[in-house]
Amino acid sequence: MSLGTYLMIDMSVLYDHADYPAALVNFNNSNKWAKFQEVHLSVTNHKCPICECSLKVGELLSRPSRGKTKQCIIESTVDHYRPQKYYTFLALTHENYILMCSECNNIYKGCEFPLFGDNPVRATNPAEISNEQPLIVNPINDDLFDLFELVVRHDLSGRKVLELSPKHEQGYRYEKALTTIKLFSLGECELNAHSNANVKTLRINLLHSHFVKFDVFIDAFMNKNIPKMRAEIADKNLKDYGFLKFILKNQFKNLV
Ligand SMILES: [Zn+2]
Repeated sequence: MSLGTYLMIDMSVLYDHADYPAALVNFNNSNKWAKFQEVHLSVTNHKCPICECSLKVGELLSRPSRGKTKQCIIESTVDHYRPQKYYTFLALTHENYILMCSECNNIYKGCEFPLFGDNPVRATNPAEISNEQPLIVNPINDDLFDLFELVVRHDLSGRKVLELSPKHEQGYRYEKALTTIKLFSLGECELNAHSNANVKTLRINLLHSHFVKFDVFIDAFMNKNIPKMRAEIADKNLKDYGFLKFILKNQFKNLV
């Protein structure tokens, strides 16, 4: 099958994108990192590369609010992968910019930037960056297939969710995947998620909506029904999702 290059969502093609040089010129003339927003969105098919929520302009998402359901827009943000709080010297380094939805950026990641190791030393200049082992995934640089696998399971209320799990069982790559999953509540949300109940519910709702999107496709995949798989990919725009490639690579567990 012919596939896109997208996964959870792999952004490794970003710097080769035809629009990147123009965005860089605009940025250099303005020092506004929002100048990269459109080219990042183009690479991710207008999705957050972390949680894969839609960032299409005007698309509404249901979220709980005081016992009711409210429709809201999740905005896209371009911000620093290594936060300015610790890395002021990277404030205007374009390779340090990363696209996320406003939920992932502001509610989950914030200024967090944990490093691997017992007493990790934080870089104080660009030359020291390569000595760091960050514990937050970077979809532009990291091999996502070497960090995560996809899991279908029941949440505590019995609904099915599509979520991430570490691929490895120990070591740096395990810790990086686990820290990312916990920080962004991309797996076992009931245990890991944000202390704010509304935010927790929003995340579980999102992972459930991902399952609903892939439900029929997963069934067709398990039954090796290629025509049905093709039809689902076309009908539901599944190529826009990073999750798709995890399933096709069989890097995927069905626990229900
Ligand atoms: Zn997100």
